[in-house]
Amino acid sequence: MNQQSSASSIAESVRRGERTATEILESYLANIDRREKDIHAFNLVTAEQARAMAAKVDADVAAGRDPGPLAGVPIALKDNMCTRGVPTTCSSRILEGWKPPYDATVVTRLAAAGAVFVGKTNLDEFAMGSSTENSAFGVTYNPHDTSRVAGGSSGGSAAAVAAEFAAASLGSDTGGSIRQPAALCGVVGVKPTYGTVSRYGLVAFASSLDQIGPFTTDVRDSALLLEVMSGHDPLDSTSIPQPPLSLMPALDQDVKGLRIGRITDLPAGSDPEIEARLAEAFAALAAAGATIVDVELPSMKYGLTAYYLIAPAEASSNLARYDGVRYGRRVDAPDTNAMYGATRAAGFGEEVKRRIMLGTYALSAGYYDAYYGKALKVRRLISDDFARAYQKADVILTPTSPIVAFPVGAKVDDPLSMYLCDVFTIPTNLAGHPAMSVPFGTGAEGLPVGVQVLAPTLGEATMFRVAAQLERSAPGGAR
Ligand code: GLN
Repeated sequence: MNQQSSASSIAESVRRGERTATEILESYLANIDRREKDIHAFNLVTAEQARAMAAKVDADVAAGRDPGPLAGVPIALKDNMCTRGVPTTCSSRILEGWKPPYDATVVTRLAAAGAVFVGKTNLDEFAMGSSTENSAFGVTYNPHDTSRVAGGSSGGSAAAVAAEFAAASLGSDTGGSIRQPAALCGVVGVKPTYGTVSRYGLVAFASSLDQIGPFTTDVRDSALLLEVMSGHDPLDSTSIPQPPLSLMPALDQDVKGLRIGRITDLPAGSDPEIEARLAEAFAALAAAGATIVDVELPSMKYGLTAYYLIAPAEASSNLARYDGVRYGRRVDAPDTNAMYGATRAAGFGEEVKRRIMLGTYALSAGYYDAYYGKALKVRRLISDDFARAYQKADVILTPTSPIVAFPVGAKVDDPLSMYLCDVFTIPTNLAGHPAMSVPFGTGAEGLPVGVQVLAPTLGEATMFRVAAQLERSAPGGAR
């Protein structure tokens, strides 16, 4: 990746009139033409809409108007974000043919900042998965090795940035769906604090966990996108009433004096190369003047279990609305109940059905306290553990994923081993905290490895300070 193709350098040169949004867009569309058939990052490429958006940016510049901080930046959107008049499928047959009547808040904000939308990216159906193999429209392949997965659920968005189909993209992260594919595809991915980026217009999976965030080729670009997307939105009742995040100043600060937490009881089982990269990341931060401190997170190991009760419980309720009446697909049957059943049986894939059944069971009378209620208690324990850890540490470092990108098909028949991909990412969502994955060297087969930086609620500025240092210290040198 050269400097010319970072989102911030594109926006700067377009705003200065040195390059046009149109010529930049065409170079990305050419990349899509060349490689999309091997990668399958997109459910839909919106080339004509993109050309119109780029032309508008160019007209603004020509007329002396500033198109905004993302002037001419080609951006891909995960296909679970509503785009007015443009199909939004969640990679599910049940939404086939549905065109949202409104834009998600993130879409509105990025467009107002001059972004150019190149398309809607593939995902695991309704964002349930860790490999983008659960899409009803086919697998997304890893641009570093097309026999392997791109991660998930935002695999299409991660692959689109890694393959230079877009300068940046958006994903959603309920249990790791931005950070894990970012790690597997060798790009930066951020899950912000719950409530900093509006969920209005994000199709709900598990509403108390879902957050939108960016994928970019470098740390600065993620800061730029988050500054544009964050900030209070009255259309999302869980949006934090505060101004947009300010992150740029943090990028140029060093890490001297920061306390970096190392979890002493981190769940085992990561690839040895990944553990080695993590150790090097700690060493690099120490060499840059940070202090490494030990922290304990004894309840972290229960995170996965709690998540797989809470997320399906919320999903079973959120997905009740797909009944053949209000959205997308309908399978006709003699009476209404039979129509609901036939529509849902035909419209949902296997993993989505599994989650709906798990969630319905966990919420059912008689089992609610034993499962859902218990899971909420574990969620509280995890938050308490983090609160104690953050008295000693400013940020915490873990691997993002215990393994590098795995071969397509390797885990599809084993849901539990797929779920384990998120062992390090899920606790953050349960606590509502921010976390990001930064590329840090390679592991087995030369595949990308990501290091995860975790921070307490609204600790994004410190998290970005550390991420910027990791990027500067990454094996192979700064970009
Ligand atoms: N892989 C996790 C799951 O399948 C997380 C998904 C996500 O963050 N959307 O639920």
